[in-house]
Amino acid sequence: MGRPEADQVRHAAISVLGSGLFYADHLEDALAVREAEVSTLRRFGDSVAGFLVAQGNLANSYSALGRFEQALPLQRDVYLRTLKLSGNQHEETLRAALNYVVSLVNLERFDEAKTLYREIIPIARRVLGESHEITLHSRTSYAQALYSDPDATLDDDREAVTTLEDVERTARRVLGGAHPNMAKIERSLQQAREILHEREGSVKSVCELKKLCSTCSTSQPRSAFSGKQWKAKAAQRRCTQCIDNEAADAYAAAAGGV
Ligand SMILES: [Zn+2]
Repeated sequence: MGRPEADQVRHAAISVLGSGLFYADHLEDALAVREAEVSTLRRFGDSVAGFLVAQGNLANSYSALGRFEQALPLQRDVYLRTLKLSGNQHEETLRAALNYVVSLVNLERFDEAKTLYREIIPIARRVLGESHEITLHSRTSYAQALYSDPDATLDDDREAVTTLEDVERTARRVLGGAHPNMAKIERSLQQAREILHEREGSVKSVCELKKLCSTCSTSQPRSAFSGKQWKAKAAQRRCTQCIDNEAADAYAAAAGGV
């Protein structure tokens, strides 16, 4: 008997079972098998790399079920330990970082996600190349983080669109138009363009909006008012010209003219 759970053949069978269930879409069953696998390896495992693969698979199971809060700490652990084991230029480190950062985006932790993307994307482009799936996926997800952030600026939206246009060109060349990932990239690009147009529209409508000056009673654009006056109540709002005229009149009166 001894330690039957440590038996490598048995472990390999469990691992295959977990993946089989996962890819057959039996996500809950796959999760249960993978939870058991990680807990066994935590007690009896003798290979760090093997443990990290099992923990990464468990995290994927949580993610596939939308349980990102549970996936995140596992993915962070896999990423940091792979980083320590293999350094920041290694494909497995970049893959682990990508799994972790995608969960950050899903949890709407956009600032952390964007910071990590800005760290890993230049490395992925240089080390793996522009057409590697990790590079393409990282850049697509980075663009999604840019335009999904409620605090996104017009520049963020523009960067998202240009990034996705570039990714789309590369992916079309490498994967071909019929590849299932193409549809995802195209959908993201369309969404980014819509959000950009919407935001450009709302910036434009503020520019085209006019407000009434209570002194000269003319409707004037934003540029005719100071920021404070533009926001003031209609009854008190005065254009810069009227304020300047009044100041000039007051000066002339004080100087003994008129
Ligand atoms: Zn006025």
